[in-house]
Amino acid sequence: MSATSSVTAKSSATYDVVVVGAGFAGMYMLHRLRGQGMTARVFEQGSGVGGTWYWNRYPGARCDVESMQYSYSFSEELQQEWDWSERYAPQPEILKYANHVADRFDLRKDIQFDTRVESAVFDEVTNLWSVTTSDGKTVTAKFVVLATGCLSNARMPDIKGLDQFKGKVYHTGHWPHEAVDFTGQRVAVIGTGSSGIQSVPVIAEQASHLTVFQRTANFSIPARNAPLTDAERKKFRDNYPEIRRFAREVARNGIYTEMPDRGALDDGDNERRAKYEARWQRGGLTFMSVYNNLGLDKAANDTAADFVREKIAEIVKDPRTARALQPNDHPIGSKRICIDTDYFATFNRPNVTLVDIKSNPIEEITENAVRVAGKDYEVDALVLATGFDAMTGSVAKIDMKGRGGQTLNQKWAAGPRTYLGLMSAGFPNLFVITGPGSPSVLSNMIVSIEQHVDWIADCLAYMRERGLDTMEASADAEDKWVDHVNEVAAATLYPQANSWYMGANVPGKPRIFMPYIGGVGPYRKICDEVAAKGYEGFVMGAGGSATQGRGVISRGIVTLLPSW
Ligand code: FAD
Ligand code: NAP
Repeated sequence: MSATSSVTAKSSATYDVVVVGAGFAGMYMLHRLRGQGMTARVFEQGSGVGGTWYWNRYPGARCDVESMQYSYSFSEELQQEWDWSERYAPQPEILKYANHVADRFDLRKDIQFDTRVESAVFDEVTNLWSVTTSDGKTVTAKFVVLATGCLSNARMPDIKGLDQFKGKVYHTGHWPHEAVDFTGQRVAVIGTGSSGIQSVPVIAEQASHLTVFQRTANFSIPARNAPLTDAERKKFRDNYPEIRRFAREVARNGIYTEMPDRGALDDGDNERRAKYEARWQRGGLTFMSVYNNLGLDKAANDTAADFVREKIAEIVKDPRTARALQPNDHPIGSKRICIDTDYFATFNRPNVTLVDIKSNPIEEITENAVRVAGKDYEVDALVLATGFDAMTGSVAKIDMKGRGGQTLNQKWAAGPRTYLGLMSAGFPNLFVITGPGSPSVLSNMIVSIEQHVDWIADCLAYMRERGLDTMEASADAEDKWVDHVNEVAAATLYPQANSWYMGANVPGKPRIFMPYIGGVGPYRKICDEVAAKGYEGFVMGAGGSATQGRGVISRGIVTLLPSW
């Protein structure tokens, strides 16, 4: 194969790379590709950038990783100049930041908004992808990068009668752009995951009455949100090199925080309680990293779960309501832990009712009510905080065809299969950002996004330098990686919960623990080593001839297990 068919050769491809999605992943991918002189087209079904923060405009929406850390690190100027207003910025501010980044790096000219990618087909003769979009057009590209998001496919619940409800129906993950005012209205919120838990206190302040329908009680830790002072911002800014390094290379979840050095049962009752209390007062996700075995040892986990259950009982005045709000069917942290502002205290308000639908599911939604156990709860508006077809949902909506006409949905019918969460065997030149099999949703996602984007961009540069034009995961490396991902997950408490990590929230979806729980730091090391060994486990080719990267990944690379 001659150099004319390398990545930059434009004779046969319209674009070097098509990127699907313009959230934080797609935006940074575009920036890196352009920096390398590659032509790229981003297709985004929404009308603006920001992804998650473009769609999730519900009341109370904000990040649960502190903003000084939940932000790009790739540009020193950007991280020095942007002022976050609060410890956890609200959604409008994060969206403003995404727009600022798009303007600052002049990204919009290569993004086509209001355009869905419907299908992508790999041509084994030309080694090009044909990408067809919702405007009926088809473009070709050497590479496709799916930056489609892990939590971007909002799921409507399958509840009888939903379509006959006469009032307004809102999904938190697909919220209208115009302001929604619930003042004077009777509102129902269905779902008590992070979105429900964030929105309930804010809606309760507006609504004349709020009824919360809870199927599974969730663990939630106070955010202790507050305005950021100049001094706090400066502390981060002055220490960013070390903070970002730690988040990338050392942390298991991509967050700069103390690393625990002992297990929960290594401390006596009083000492342990004092530590939990200190983390509860500090607030935020790092509650779970007080000890190094909360995700591994049920007895250790029970101590943290009991502590939070006691807190709920202290906060919620009505004992029956408190009991219903106490989670008791999964280890703490095995479902994404929630971070709230006054969630449990909201149930002390006279205008808020909790309806436990665990044993008595919603029978039906009528024209004006939610019916449970024969009782009609009359409401004017419904808020569905019912979550997403996570990790694979948005990918599955695209008709992807790889070698031999096999679709990705066929290949992933029994659960997603990837090598390193980056590529799937049989689908050459197709990358996924924060895909299943990578730390992804178990991390500060901007850290994981930047790692994947950098790895992909470096890989494309490597191929260009060597005149290579195809790359795909070897089936052997993929099998071993999938085994490893499962093996590591099985050693934790995570698979014990019916979580969206397991696909359990979507009827019929295979039950597989999808993200890689080995930790952000160890995972990055594996990816870097794979690259350093000439992309070990990947098959690269030029003009039809293929070479296998040296050897394949060996089992049991990561022996350390996550502590959160
Ligand atoms: P997304 O932001 O989801 O962007 C993907 C984009 O792809 C979307 O705009 C979508 O419209 C587009 N797209 C999908 N399919 C197609 C298609 N076929 N054609 C065209 N366009 C398509 N993570 C954290 O680490 N910390 C947090 O605090 C945090 N808070 C969150 C709060 C909420 C409410 C939610 C839902 C998620 C949160 N997350 C958080 C996870 C969050 O999704 C990631 O942090 C991050 O924003 C993901 O960026 P992304 O670009 O990968 O995906
Ligand atoms: P989620 O965690 O999947 O929660 C969905 C809720 O809806 C659950 O309580 C679920 O109950 C319930 N539900 C689903 N279908 C139902 C039905 N048919 N009938 C009754 N109840 C039903 O979704 P999410 O709250 O949108 O959060 C998803 C993820 O997005 C989070 O885990 C987090 O990663 C991210 N997020 C983060 C923040 C943040 O704090 N920054 C905010 C929002 C979202 P079951 O549990 O019983 O299935």
